[in-house]
This record gives sequence, structure tokens and C-alpha cells, in this order.
Amino acid sequence: MSFASLGLSEEIVRAVTERGYTEPTPIQLQAVPAVLSGGDLLAGAQTGTGKTAGFVLPILHRLSDKAVKGPSEGRPPIRALILTPTRELAAQVEESVREYGKYLKLNSMMMFGGVNINPQIQKLRSRVDILVATPGRLLDHAQQQTVDLSRVEILVLDEADRMLDMGFIRDIKKIMALIPRQRQTLLFSATFSDEIKTLADSLLNNPAMIEV
Ligand code: AMP
Repeated sequence: MSFASLGLSEEIVRAVTERGYTEPTPIQLQAVPAVLSGGDLLAGAQTGTGKTAGFVLPILHRLSDKAVKGPSEGRPPIRALILTPTRELAAQVEESVREYGKYLKLNSMMMFGGVNINPQIQKLRSRVDILVATPGRLLDHAQQQTVDLSRVEILVLDEADRMLDMGFIRDIKKIMALIPRQRQTLLFSATFSDEIKTLADSLLNNPAMIEV
């Protein structure tokens, strides 16, 4: 099975091939078609399985495949939001977005706490299609109204179990209230505690379920 036969565009396949990947990993084989279909996804996957490309590749495809919904005047909207528990993971995911999307016209940004907020506010004034963020800093921006999540089409919770362990549940719930209900939601977690199951139940709508 090749990346092209999964239904990914030529621009994405080219970037992945240049990265040195010859074939999709098991999680990518399952996640890519599930995400391309537009439905929700609940995925059990550890780090090291290729889970990042598993959601980044089909998100890039979907966003480059269809135009922005709604009015075209005003600032272009943030269309995909990827939440991660740590700044290291946010940086890694955003690097993947940039690399796999290098032949596409999509802009990404990462944000996390512990650094000056002003450069982030500046950057949010430019076009950001894909935002990779840790929950606390994202909420700071939301409270200051320096970020607009009202047109997010795709939401990813990466390493959701770690986000809960780190006490982000309240922040996540507050962020949910700012995102349209009508959206595609993907939840990745290495473990499935009752707390994760409850979160998944509340966020996902008839999800495809995969586990590797
Ligand atoms: P992740 O589980 O997303 O952290 O990815 C783990 C590592 O696998 C990263 O270094 C990726 O660059 C690499 N990787 C992801 N997909 C593939 C693939 N299809 N073939 C080879 N390596 C990959």
C-alpha cells in the first residue's frame, strides 16, 4: 500500500517521499482514510508509531482540497486546531505540518506558554490555517480575544491521556465551548482510562475506532 493509494494528493505524497518514507505505517493505513472520510476518529496509538503523520497528512489534504467555509471577507479563519500536552510535542507536530505541507499553500503556527505572548499575538494577525497549541496559552489568547476559534473545522487532541494527567481537562472544556459543534474531531491517546472514555464520549460523534 502506498501513500498515493490512500488518496493523498500528489503534493503531499511528494513531501512524504522526500522525507524518506516508502510506505505508510499501520496507524497511517487506518487513520488516513478515516480522516479523509470526514468522520470523527478515536485512535489508540503510542508515540513512535507514526501517529503524527497519521493525522497531519489527511488534515493537509482536506484543507487544501476544499475552500474556506462561510464569508470570505475579513481575516482568514483558523481551520484546524491541534492541541498537545507539551511545548515539545507542539513544536514537533508543527514541524511535521510544515514539512509535509511544504508544497501546499497552508500556513501553520505553534503556541505554548512560558514565553512572551506578544510575538504570538503578532503572528495571529497573519493568516494561520493550522494552529498547534498547548491548552493553557491558547485559553490566555481566547480570554484576551487575540485568537478566533469560531471557524475551526477540524480539532485534534493529541496525547489526550497526557493532557488529562497534566490537569488540562477544564481548559479543554473551555476551549470546546469556543469551537463550532459542527466539526471533525480526532482524539489520540496511548491509554484508555474511564476519564478518557468519558471525554471521548462527550467530544466525538460516532467515531471510527482504531488501535495499533
Ligand atoms: P510519531 O509516532 O508520529 O512520533 O512518529 C515517529 C517517527 O516515525 C517519526 O520520526 C517519523 O518521522 C517517523 N515516521 C512516520 N511515518 C513514517 C513512515 N511512513 N515511514 C517511516 N518513518 C515514519
